[in-house]
Amino acid sequence: MVDLKGQYQHIKERVDGSIMNVIETTAFVNGSEVHEFQKELEEYLGVKHVIPCANGTDALQIAMMGLGLKPGDEVITADFTFAATVEVIALLQLTPVLVDVDPITFNIDIEAIKKAITPKTKAIVPVHLFGLAANMDEIMVLAKEHNLYVIEDNAQGIGANYLSKDGSKRKTGTIGHVASTSFFPSKNLGCYGDGGAIFTNDDALAHTIRGIVNHGMYVRYHHDVVGVNSRLDSIQAAVLRAKLPHLDNYNKARIEAANKYSEVFKNIENIIVPGGFDTENNLSERTHVFHQYTLKIKSVDRDALVNHLSEKGIPCGVYYPIPLHLQKAYKDERYKEEDFAVTNQLVKEVISLPMHTELDDEQIKYITETVINFVTK
Ligand SMILES: *Cc1c(COP(=O)(O)O)cnc(C)c1O
Repeated sequence: MVDLKGQYQHIKERVDGSIMNVIETTAFVNGSEVHEFQKELEEYLGVKHVIPCANGTDALQIAMMGLGLKPGDEVITADFTFAATVEVIALLQLTPVLVDVDPITFNIDIEAIKKAITPKTKAIVPVHLFGLAANMDEIMVLAKEHNLYVIEDNAQGIGANYLSKDGSKRKTGTIGHVASTSFFPSKNLGCYGDGGAIFTNDDALAHTIRGIVNHGMYVRYHHDVVGVNSRLDSIQAAVLRAKLPHLDNYNKARIEAANKYSEVFKNIENIIVPGGFDTENNLSERTHVFHQYTLKIKSVDRDALVNHLSEKGIPCGVYYPIPLHLQKAYKDERYKEEDFAVTNQLVKEVISLPMHTELDDEQIKYITETVINFVTK
């Protein structure tokens, strides 16, 4: 699904050099690489504060702790996403409220959010799923109307632009009150292990969060709040510093590969290509950065296609095969099946094809032909 080795070959010298430097200086924790990376990422995103932490799941949890959400507060998020999002809500004893998604963008459905808001609702967590920004304009309007926090789960969307109706253009993860991201190796900006970060433009919230990631300490050995231990290693920061200057090019390579896939698939019966974004082949407008390239397959057995592709040596993935509201851990008797019609359908139809920065035309040709042969046979 991803070719991390191929990508490494291009940046090997810098990566090896900075990793060796961390080892030589033994600044393994909180070293200068971490501080420099933080500043460089703030600059790249155009956000006031980046707070690095251990992984993307921690980042979400810490963002919610920083906002001071309390047990029983309701937090609305999408039924169709990776489980980390709902997991941390439940872990903090907040009440997850899962809602359906849009069938075209796969992102949280605005009408469904409206229906789910109650006096107990305190936050909305949009996920920029597969690399396409959720409808942030509408979400921010709803949040303002109902006095809610917006926590962007940007684990799959780093580097994407969001063009607002008012003409302002911002990076995903800088629009809500706070955002989280993951540097898991396969993400668009991935390190060589685990890593994550929280972003915010709010100075007071950033201060609170900097203490939370460090055992609730603002002054050494004075623990003002209950915190956690969640750090980004210096070695991982060194890898990320080597990759950040290439992020726009990495995303462009993904967009180009996606365009090539879509060009071939778009007129094939029973295949629906990703949609709902500006098709410009650059990063200037509202972009989809294709963390995943996900097709919908109609009238053909999707699981049979998955098996066929693996037999032909093509890795593929089903993100996600089970709606979160049907997962044992997150069942809630208040959920009604008819409220999840889109997600219930998507889990049967979606398939994600190989997507990374090193895909070449020959691979794309082999993959598209193999898919089309099966779907049209
Ligand atoms: C990867 C991911 C996470 C979790 O990140 P980790 O670094 O693996 O903890 C959270 N949300 C979404 C949408 C993700 O894709």
